[in-house]
Amino acid sequence: MSGFVFSEKPISIATGEGATLTAENGTDYLDFGASYACTPTGHCHPDVVEAVQKQAGELLYVQGSYPVQARADLHEKLGALAPDGIENVWLCNSGTEANEAALKFARSATDGTKIVAAKRAFHGRTAGTLSATWKPKYKKPFEPLLEDQVEFVTYGDAGELESAVDDDTAAVILEPIQGEGGIHPAPQDYLETAREATEATDTALIFDEIQTGIGRTGEFWACEGSGVTPDILTTAKGIASGLPMGATLCADWIAEASGPHGSTFSGNPLVSAAANATLDVVVEEDLPGNAAEIGGYLQDELAALDVPLRDVRGEGLLLGVEVKRGANGVLRDLALEHQILALPAGRSVVRLLPPLVVDEAAADQVVTALADVLAPEAEAQAES
Ligand SMILES: *Cc1c(COP(=O)(O)O)cnc(C)c1O
Repeated sequence: MSGFVFSEKPISIATGEGATLTAENGTDYLDFGASYACTPTGHCHPDVVEAVQKQAGELLYVQGSYPVQARADLHEKLGALAPDGIENVWLCNSGTEANEAALKFARSATDGTKIVAAKRAFHGRTAGTLSATWKPKYKKPFEPLLEDQVEFVTYGDAGELESAVDDDTAAVILEPIQGEGGIHPAPQDYLETAREATEATDTALIFDEIQTGIGRTGEFWACEGSGVTPDILTTAKGIASGLPMGATLCADWIAEASGPHGSTFSGNPLVSAAANATLDVVVEEDLPGNAAEIGGYLQDELAALDVPLRDVRGEGLLLGVEVKRGANGVLRDLALEHQILALPAGRSVVRLLPPLVVDEAAADQVVTALADVLAPEAEAQAES
């Protein structure tokens, strides 16, 4: 058996530039999410490519106990970009590891053991983070996990959250906007309630910003818009323009209790160089500002479409379009008929999360394509 785990798409990609992916056969595709939010700066941004090439020629790897400039620079940059009060930085290699560290740190820093997570949540696929992930499909074959130690609450129900948090709770983990679960922004005041309930019980509040961070929602971090700062914030996906990295940002009282945690590749020079260049581009090109502007435009244009849509929701360039026919059929038509690659978020939601460098022309292309694919005639055909 050769490849397994991933079900591969019938399009084989050779090169990428900006928001464009080019297949082996020369066809150009507009990347509107196919890269899992990992390319905020676009594909092969020249600054990122140059930084990686330079670092590769100097030092690929040295163990984390020796200081290196690229990692030191990244600690400083992330510390400066972190919300006030959570400037301590732990680096790792993926989103699930960033969350796994967050859950471990929370246990170690508090007297509690229980983890409160939300229904529809997605936090990763290692044993700890999978336990805090909602969808049974992802978990069943691998159980038993930590199911006895995780309590799930309805996302957005402040009262339910308040009653779940008690003195035995180590952490509450929440996405400020649920991504895999269908693009659900937290209702007004929900994150504030989470902050108050966790503060009252000395519980760690974790925001999983693996999908929402690095400018995607129009702010550098999605939680900035809510005015709530967690004790721990995790991020990954776009942080190094597609190279594998995760980060756990935390308050002093959490960092002090991090204990014997570690990782061989933590903050390795090559990926740190990519992350430094990525963060510089995101700030210098004001990509959060562009995400807010193009995302707002896209939402307005989609809402004005005269086709049967159930809903359009999200923030910045993290948008969910709830459709009547199955999302997979819509995605197939977008790819094969309009050369636009997007993602599902559950059975009926088309998820749009392009590189943050996209312009209005790209947004127009997506709106026109969706208008065609979702037209009543296409819907009828898909149903027959
Ligand atoms: C993708 C994602 C993860 C897991 O990240 P990996 O890098 O795939 O391990 C966790 N939480 C959220 C919100 C994500 O979107």
